[in-house]
Parts: sequence; C-alpha cells; structure tokens
Amino acid sequence: MSESRAFCPRCGDPVPERSADDESGDAADPLRPGSEVDLCDSCYFEDFDFVDAPNRIDVRVCARCGAVYRGNRWVDVGAQDYTDIAIEEVSEALSVHVDVEDVAWQVEPEQVDQNTIRMHCFFTGVVRGTPVEEQVTVPVKIARQTCQRCGRIAGDYYASIVQIRAEGRTPTSEETDRAKEIAHDIVADMEATGDRNAFVTEVGETDDGLNIKVSTNKIGKKISNKMVEEFGGTVNDAETLVTEDSDGNEVYRVTFAVRLPPYTPGDVIDLADDADDDGPVLVRSARGNLKGIRVTTGERYEAGYEEGNSPDARKLGEHEDADETTVVTVEDENAVQVLDPETYQAKTVARPDYFDPDAETVPVLKSRAGLHILPDESASGSAEE
Ligand SMILES: [Zn+2]
Ligand SMILES: [Zn+2]
Repeated sequence: MSESRAFCPRCGDPVPERSADDESGDAADPLRPGSEVDLCDSCYFEDFDFVDAPNRIDVRVCARCGAVYRGNRWVDVGAQDYTDIAIEEVSEALSVHVDVEDVAWQVEPEQVDQNTIRMHCFFTGVVRGTPVEEQVTVPVKIARQTCQRCGRIAGDYYASIVQIRAEGRTPTSEETDRAKEIAHDIVADMEATGDRNAFVTEVGETDDGLNIKVSTNKIGKKISNKMVEEFGGTVNDAETLVTEDSDGNEVYRVTFAVRLPPYTPGDVIDLADDADDDGPVLVRSARGNLKGIRVTTGERYEAGYEEGNSPDARKLGEHEDADETTVVTVEDENAVQVLDPETYQAKTVARPDYFDPDAETVPVLKSRAGLHILPDESASGSAEE
C-alpha cells in the first residue's frame, strides 16, 4: 500500500491526514453529494453555512384556542402564549448544517408589536474540531384567525342532541350532573387523540331534563349509551334532515332520546300487582330489569321478564326520607316493636333479615303502606344490588 498524499481540490494545499471517525467531509457519502472530496479547512469554512433560517416566519394562530395552522390543517400545539408558539415555529423552521456536532441553541424573544415577535437565536457547535457559533434573528409574524372548530362553536354548530329524560319523573341532579360529566369526558378523550372535531356545543336544562348538543353523532351515541349503561332505561334515535352540504349531500341531525327508568336506587316502591302481598321493595338497581329487596323480609326481588324492565308500581318514598327511631323490643323472628316517629307510640312491624337485634335505633319509613324498617345504609354501605 502506497501512501497517497491528499490535496485540496480547490486551492491545491496539502490536506492533513484525518482520523477515520471524523466523518465530516468524507468521500463517497451518497447522502451528501458534493462532499466527495476533502476540502482544506480554509476552503471548507469559506462555504460553511452553520444555520439555515428563513427571512421571516408567518404563523396563523387561532385567537380563541391557540391552535396553529400547519400544512393544510389546524393543529393544537398546547402553547401557553404567542411567544411559546413563536419559539415552536422557529425551532421547526431553522436547520443547522449536518456536519456540526454538539449543537446548542438559545433564543431570546423580543416582542416588537402585538403581532410581531423578533426571535434572536444563538447557536454554538463544533465542526472539524473547531468551535463555531452563529446568531440569527428571525421575525415571527402572528396572524390571529379563527380555526374551523372555534368558528363552529361560535356559530352554535351541532350535529346531534342528547335528550336526558326519565319515565314519570324528572331526572335527578345526580343523573343530569353525571350526563354532563360523561359528555365532557368523552369529548376530552377524543380531543386527547387529536380529534379536533369533538366538542360540546351547549348544555341546557329543560323543565323535564337536560339537552346536550354535541358536534358529531358519534359523541351523541356514546353519551346516551353510557347513560343507559350506568342508570338503566332506554335510548331511541331519530334523524332529521337539516340541510344539504356544499357537495349536495344530505346532512342529518340525530336526536338521541334517553329515557331513564321510573325508579332509582333508594326508592321504596309498592308493586301494583294485586297478587303481590310480600310488601314494598327498596330499589337497589334499575340497570336492566329492576332489582331490590323486600323491606318486610329482606328477601331479594327482581322484576320478571313479563313485567318488562320496570314493573307497575307506585313510589312510597326514598331511603333518604327514613327517620331514625328507637327499637322498643324484639318480639320474635318475624316482628319487632319500634316507636312510630310521628306519634311516638310503640308499633309492631315486620322484621326483615337485615335487622340487627342489637341495634338501639333503626331507620324506618312511614308511608301509605305503613311503617317499615329499612337497612342501615351507613353501616352496610349501598354497594349491594
Ligand atoms: Zn483549500
Ligand atoms: Zn380555535
């Protein structure tokens, strides 16, 4: 092997031997045409351009939500303010020479006017063993606009309505609060996956429940299914033709009517069935078919298939209406004497199996159906179904 001397192909000066691991300017790199031959340092640095920066950067920012227009769409960048956005856009737009190692940079934003931020950027790095540095200043012009989503929200756009209603009653605040929460959770989950078309347009209380307007049918369907999953009841959907879009396609708006069951956990009901003389039922669950316990015996009750999801019944009261009263004496396994909470007279009532014979007081419900001992929810919890 003969030693070959290298010469700079531009100025003819001898080029010193370079170590194999220094790849900058190496020959035959297919990704870097034009670097086939080693230039001497002096010729190399003559052409060397450390930082490539545009003269200015124009950014379209949604003035409402802070989304930035990139390529051909709006993107949420999670920026706190316009300076954040400017920094982000500058980092996207600037590039440094591939040969440079240990690149570091810092930026000092200078607010010039409301819509212009001048970005002073300082770069340092090492190339061919020589420290290099460069300073560039790029003005970032911010154009405040309204993105499509915010335009739609501002225009009260919606594709779907979820109506929360209940059979024979108005929905409880627990149910309507949960419906709002579900709507916002579903939208938040979809936003988290980058879906910019998911939003809640409006939540409105009505005399008989709640209306939730949302941006897509898919969200409406998810909310109503989740409500029925958690509270029971049914959902029906109906399409209404609202308009034709610019391409002549028919645009439908879908209404999801959620009908929550007539009774909720904690209700005490008297079954309408004449043949039923086992006493009132404390409702435990209304998901699927109604389930509960008899307040006379403590036995489980479950609505039969022929009764549908909810049997005919009248509501006597709620567990919350129960009064704590004194146990006078335990008569036998079927009867207990307690004080009537209104008259304070001792009364013999049915003894359900959840009755604790050591208890000094028990919750009782006085209703049209008489006096009944209810389970002590504070002690046993209400997780049972
Ligand atoms: Zn040279
Ligand atoms: Zn926006």
